[in-house]
Amino acid sequence: MPDTEKLHCLIIGSGPAGYTAAIYAARANLKPVLYQGLQPGGQLTITTEVENYPGYPNGIMGPQMMIDFEQQAQRMGADIRWGMATKVDFSSKPFKVEIDEEKWIEADAVIIATGASAKWLGLESEQRLNGHGVSACAVCDGFFFKGQEVAIVGAGDTACEEALYLSKLCSTVHMLVRRGEMRASKVMQDRVLKTANIIVYWNTDPIEVLGDKKVDSLKMQNNKTGEETIIPLKAFFVAIGHKPNADLFKGWLDMDEQGYLLTQPGSAKTNIEGVYACGDVQDKIYRQAVSAAGSGCMAALDAERYLGTLDA
Ligand code: NDP
Repeated sequence: MPDTEKLHCLIIGSGPAGYTAAIYAARANLKPVLYQGLQPGGQLTITTEVENYPGYPNGIMGPQMMIDFEQQAQRMGADIRWGMATKVDFSSKPFKVEIDEEKWIEADAVIIATGASAKWLGLESEQRLNGHGVSACAVCDGFFFKGQEVAIVGAGDTACEEALYLSKLCSTVHMLVRRGEMRASKVMQDRVLKTANIIVYWNTDPIEVLGDKKVDSLKMQNNKTGEETIIPLKAFFVAIGHKPNADLFKGWLDMDEQGYLLTQPGSAKTNIEGVYACGDVQDKIYRQAVSAAGSGCMAALDAERYLGTLDA
C-alpha cells in the first residue's frame, strides 16, 4: 500500500506563479506544500538578467530572483519540497496527486503552476549559446541588444509580436520564416511587413548560430534554392511556440487545442471546483514573470475562499 499524506493545499510548480501562490496561501494559514518539479524556479532559471520585474530597481538575475521568491515563501511558512507530480486523480475529493511515482498526496485544494517550456529548434549551437545571445524571450532579453542587429525565427503571433518589439530597440531584425507564408494573424503580419527595419526571409531555415562565447553571426539556408548565407548579428531569438506543461492533467481538466489549461475569465478556477491554475500553464499571451505572479496570487485567493466553504 503506497504512502499517503493528507494536506489542505497542494501547489505544483515553482516559478513565479507557484511561489506567489505559496506566499499568499501560507499567509492565509492554508499550510501549503509546494512541489518544485523538474526545474525548480522554472523558466527564469535559464534567463540572465531580469530588468522588468517591479521592485528590483537595479535588475536581478533570473535564478537569484527565484531564490528570493522561494525564501519569501519559506519565511511565510510554506513547505517547499523537491519532487515531481507524476499522476493525478481528480475523480473525487480530496484530490489525489502522486509524487515521484512513490507516494500519494490527498489535498483539499490543488494549485497548478507547472508553467510552459519554450520549443527549441534542436541545433547544437542554440543550446551552447543559450543566455549568450540565444534567447526564447525577446521581451526579457531584447533590451541587451539595443542598436544591434538581431534575428528571430518563427512566423506565428509570438514571433511577429517579438519582431515588432525588437524593431523598436534594434537596428535591424532579420526574421526567418520556414514557409512562403506566415501563420500569424493578418494584422500582425501586416505590421511586420510594413516595418522598415524588419527583413523577412521566406522559405528560410537557420542552419547554425555562430560564435565562440557569444553569438556573432547566423548561417541560414533558403530551403527552395539551397542557397546558404551568413549574416552578422548579436542575438538570435527563437519564437516557434511554447508547450504548456499540462500533459498530466489530460482527461481531467479542460484545455484549449494547444494544451493550455482553461480558467474561468477573471479567476484561476478550472472546470473542477477546488483545482486552480495559474502562470504560463494557462497563459499563452502574456507569459511574463509579473503576470504569472499575479495569477498565482489569484489562485491562492480562490483556493482560500473555496477552502473556507469546506471549513464552514
Ligand atoms: P504558433 O504555434 O502559433 O506558431 C509557431 C510558429 O513557429 C509557426 O509559424 C511555425 O511555422 C514556426 N515553427 C515551428 N517550428 C519551427 C521550426 N522548427 N523552424 C522554424 N519555424 C518553426 O506559436 P505562437 O507562440 O506564435 O502562438 C501560440 C498561440 O498564442 C497562437 O494561438 C497565437 O495566436 C497566440 N498568441 C496570441 C497573441 C496575441 O493575440 N497578441 C500573442 C502571442 C501568441 P509553421 O507556420 O510553418 O508551422
